[in-house]
Amino acid sequence: MGRRHGGGANYTLSVLPAPAGVRSINASLRATPMKFRCAHRWAFTRWGGPLETLEDPLEPATGNEVTIRVTHCGICHSDLHIRAGGFDMGGGRMSSLERAGTRLPVTMGHEICGEVVEVGPEVRSVAAGDRVVAYPWIGCGSCAVCERGDDHLCPKAANNLGLQRPGGYSDLVRVPHDRYLVPIGSLDPARAATFACAGITAWGAIRKLSPATADDWIAVIGCGGVGMTAVALLAATSPARIAAIDPDPAKREAALRYGATAAFDPGADKAAKTIAEACGNNLAGAIDFVGAESSSSLAVNLVRRTGEVVIVGLFGGEFRMPLPMFALKSLSILGSYVGGLNDLRDLVDLAQRVELPEIPLDLRPLASVNESLDDLANGRVVGRVILQPA
Ligand SMILES: [Zn+2]
Ligand SMILES: [Zn+2]
Repeated sequence: MGRRHGGGANYTLSVLPAPAGVRSINASLRATPMKFRCAHRWAFTRWGGPLETLEDPLEPATGNEVTIRVTHCGICHSDLHIRAGGFDMGGGRMSSLERAGTRLPVTMGHEICGEVVEVGPEVRSVAAGDRVVAYPWIGCGSCAVCERGDDHLCPKAANNLGLQRPGGYSDLVRVPHDRYLVPIGSLDPARAATFACAGITAWGAIRKLSPATADDWIAVIGCGGVGMTAVALLAATSPARIAAIDPDPAKREAALRYGATAAFDPGADKAAKTIAEACGNNLAGAIDFVGAESSSSLAVNLVRRTGEVVIVGLFGGEFRMPLPMFALKSLSILGSYVGGLNDLRDLVDLAQRVELPEIPLDLRPLASVNESLDDLANGRVVGRVILQPA
């Protein structure tokens, strides 16, 4: 598939003459003598192994394909699971990306912002020079689920950037269709990159909750980057009161600044009872951004009758509860996995009008990807690492 080269992520730009009679050169590109024909990526070639540089030739973009020059790519916590080859499913079991069809080598990176440098002949929605964020959770593109914008839940195929398809730990990314690109306008590209996973994970979970009233409370459990973004988005878009729940006092304080009505320590004595009472026993919903046994059982215990619990976090473990609680509380428990294409469009639009939390960004060169992943695994990262190709 790829061929190794030793020199890091330097560009090799080939200058090719336009083939005679080929319509695939977009008008806006005819003036550009250079085309991008080779991607220099950082990929791992065995599960759990280090990332190494690979070089892959790129064929000219056809149909609705678009080539992006990556300017910023966020490192997501899930990249640690992808590199390891799977997720902890509880009870000592691991899911396996390999059994699910992901092939080596894997070029990770699914929070991609960059500049359009090449478009196929059918592309109408973007042009060379546009600054875009890529929606990475790509499905088959043609089933009913994909057509309503829920490509991330496509039952037929997974073609995710940074997993099945090469992602943003690279100087160039080929996106299979321009519908997966959202122009970012005046947004900071480093920040807009994080919308493709962290941002839509927050927004996608919020959208799972039924509309709330000003008397309702919604709990946000886990106020890391994604949870904190959810607090700010809820404060901006929902009349409900917000209970932020996190063991870290600094995060509780920050959540209050971003619009939480009250903040609680889940480790305090009789936390569930204290929190529910402080919220007038009127928690209509709880979003669990941790996804651990303790956080999800707290969520279920907190919500009132008709309550909705959305489980987002992938910490791992098993979930147990007495079955009669479903009926007695008329309880709904939902899962939410990243978000849809429309969530990304909404979020880019919202971000230009709403003040979102300034989660600290740590910009680093792409060549530091191995150290950066290790720093993340060892808890040495504050905020989000954003990689930049040289
Ligand atoms: Zn992610
Ligand atoms: Zn589909």
